[in-house]
Amino acid sequence: MTSPILQVDKLKMYFPVKEGILMRATRFNRAVDGVSLSIRPGETLGLVGESGCGKSTLGRCIARLYKPTEGRIDFEGTDITQLSGKALLPYRKDIQMIFQDPMESLNARHTVGDILEEPFIIHRIGSKQERTQKVRRLLDIVGLPARSVTRYPFEFSGGQRQRISIARSIALNPKLVICDEPVSALDVSIQSQILNLLVDLQEEFNLAYLFIAHDLAVVKHISNRIAIMYLGKIFEEADGEAIYQSPQHPYTESLISAIPIPDPRKRIRREVIKGDVPSPINPPRGCSFHPRCPKVIDTCHVEQPSLRTLPDRKLACHLALDAVSTTS
Ligand code: SF4
Repeated sequence: MTSPILQVDKLKMYFPVKEGILMRATRFNRAVDGVSLSIRPGETLGLVGESGCGKSTLGRCIARLYKPTEGRIDFEGTDITQLSGKALLPYRKDIQMIFQDPMESLNARHTVGDILEEPFIIHRIGSKQERTQKVRRLLDIVGLPARSVTRYPFEFSGGQRQRISIARSIALNPKLVICDEPVSALDVSIQSQILNLLVDLQEEFNLAYLFIAHDLAVVKHISNRIAIMYLGKIFEEADGEAIYQSPQHPYTESLISAIPIPDPRKRIRREVIKGDVPSPINPPRGCSFHPRCPKVIDTCHVEQPSLRTLPDRKLACHLALDAVSTTS
């Protein structure tokens, strides 16, 4: 089996919460709290959880937009956790990010031509003429007309703007793209077009994706494996098929139940969870899901379950049987 292109080990990202007259950090927002995962070249790992569970923060740590508090990020065998400045520059090329709202991530005062040329200028690639050709090729790859170069982001639809973001993200031939809810703000009819484009690009350029979403339905067709995240931790990770056909964690079960059924004649028993995700500043003791879990037992109130390796998945739940090892 191919070695992972990305290996994340016990990663933590704690943000200080400054309070009082002296603005001292007495508490921490534990946005990412000991996450381990890996992605192989050309593979898609779906990362799913409700808003506020830390998945976007994890993506930004991996892209090294944040410097993690603890833990380790290896990219192609090199520890990039603490790199900064020039030492980080090659990895900025190799690891790219697509954001949910292209209007925020694209500079509204620049033309599409300028936006797509910028990565080549930053990394000193090609002459002006060569860069112009590369920009035209990028537009062609993502299905936008060559005349787009003179237009501004606000002149495009949401789906077209996301195509511009995607074009920029692949400009430097990255190996890993972190897709942070790239279709969540789009109409359902446009979502599938963008997902298909991402799949085509993955096949053409052997891209690895970390695909972040709050909705399991969105990642279903694009992910090889899926990790379920809640309050800074991974609760379950398995092949897409295993997650959809036989979810083992009560939180995963509730996310599956929330997927709309297109056929109104089919009825399923829904395990809809109540309440909101608790604050990562003051997470519940024991299993952080216990205040909302329909299967809670006494142990869950006091003991945090570790992520254990089972024959077909990783799972963090006291109800998990047949665990063969502890991974974190
Ligand atoms: Fe529910 Fe307990 Fe499992 Fe947590 S450990 S998911 S509270 S059963």
